Amino acid sequence: MVKLAEWRGKALFRKYGIPVPEGQVVRSADEAERAAASGSVPLPCVVKAQVLAGGRGKGGAVRFANSPAEAREATAAILGLDFKGEKVREVLLEGKVAVGRELYLSVTLDRGLRAPVLIASAQGGVEVESVADAAIDRQGVDPFPGITGYETRRVAKVLQLSGNLAQELAALVRDLWALFQGEDAELVEINPLAVVGEHLVALDAKVILEDDAGFRHPEYAEIQDDRTPLEEIAREKDIAFVQLDGNIGVIANGAGLTMATLDVLMELGGKPGVFLDLGGTDDPKKVTEAFLLMAEAHPKAVFLNIFGGVTRCDTVATGLVAAMQQVPAANRFPLVARIRGNNEQEGIAILRAAGVTSVSDLRASAQAVVAAAGVSP
Ligand code: ADP
Ligand code: MG
Repeated sequence: MVKLAEWRGKALFRKYGIPVPEGQVVRSADEAERAAASGSVPLPCVVKAQVLAGGRGKGGAVRFANSPAEAREATAAILGLDFKGEKVREVLLEGKVAVGRELYLSVTLDRGLRAPVLIASAQGGVEVESVADAAIDRQGVDPFPGITGYETRRVAKVLQLSGNLAQELAALVRDLWALFQGEDAELVEINPLAVVGEHLVALDAKVILEDDAGFRHPEYAEIQDDRTPLEEIAREKDIAFVQLDGNIGVIANGAGLTMATLDVLMELGGKPGVFLDLGGTDDPKKVTEAFLLMAEAHPKAVFLNIFGGVTRCDTVATGLVAAMQQVPAANRFPLVARIRGNNEQEGIAILRAAGVTSVSDLRASAQAVVAAAGVSP
């Protein structure tokens, strides 16, 4: 999943012809003052924290400014914020528009319908979460032919728009759809879509891209700016690798087992620090690469929890043993292994020959890792 900050989402909106206020992203209070003073941001303006979490309006992360000095002040206040665990590094300044009604419009995938769905509500804005289900219209969209007059008329009715506004809406829905398809998005959301006089303007943009389509969009690679350097290397090698705050490394396969492993460690008082999902691989070299990357994260102890399916236990064991021979002495760590499933006996034998015992009981093995990391269970 690649979640885009509002300003990146709005850049895509512009590309597809969806109207947005004129604005500029800044990274310092100085820059904000200059942008407002030079006219590249119209005044009065809105000053918005660029974080991925929602609810900025209610959380004090959207402010208004009437002068370059106020833009500076608001930016300085927002840049210091820690908003729902995210540090604010970027701020979007944009022209403040005279909002009439605030509407909601989005396109996303509905896995139940097995089709994209167009969602609309006349009650958009910061309270959208508390809008009654009955006030939210959802219509499936057949990807062939895509958006037709049928869908746009229905949305216009739901949003109570007529005349020129209904015409603008029809174009906007088509543009939103084109963006959804063209950028391989999972979600494109406009909340609020503001009625400003006789026009529609997208005041917020939430875009989530499907990263499995990344190969079609090399420009995505630089979009995600919240990766650590090791996560960046892992991404290039196509390894699912995430760094957290703790000190225990976890190597598992499959999202379900990986999550369950983290849960068990937490329950026993351990603090998972890095996790690596081997997924389904039958290449011991890939396992070696993954393991070496883990070593670079300097975990206190590592828990290898594998359920052999597509990824056979002997493949993992072979890759692991090869990696252990390459890890420099300074980066070595205690390793607890639990490998079960396909070719379990072969895998256990390979590990044993390299001095690693596989503990088959989940709790016992997790406890051993927690103890090795030096956290009392
Ligand atoms: P969030 O969804 O994180 O709360 P929004 O971008 O939706 O942030 O902004 C919250 C509210 O601030 C909007 O519902 C709208 O009322 C107001 N707002 C945002 N941008 C503008 C703008 N350019 N002009 C006027 N009002 C705005
Ligand atoms: Mg919003």
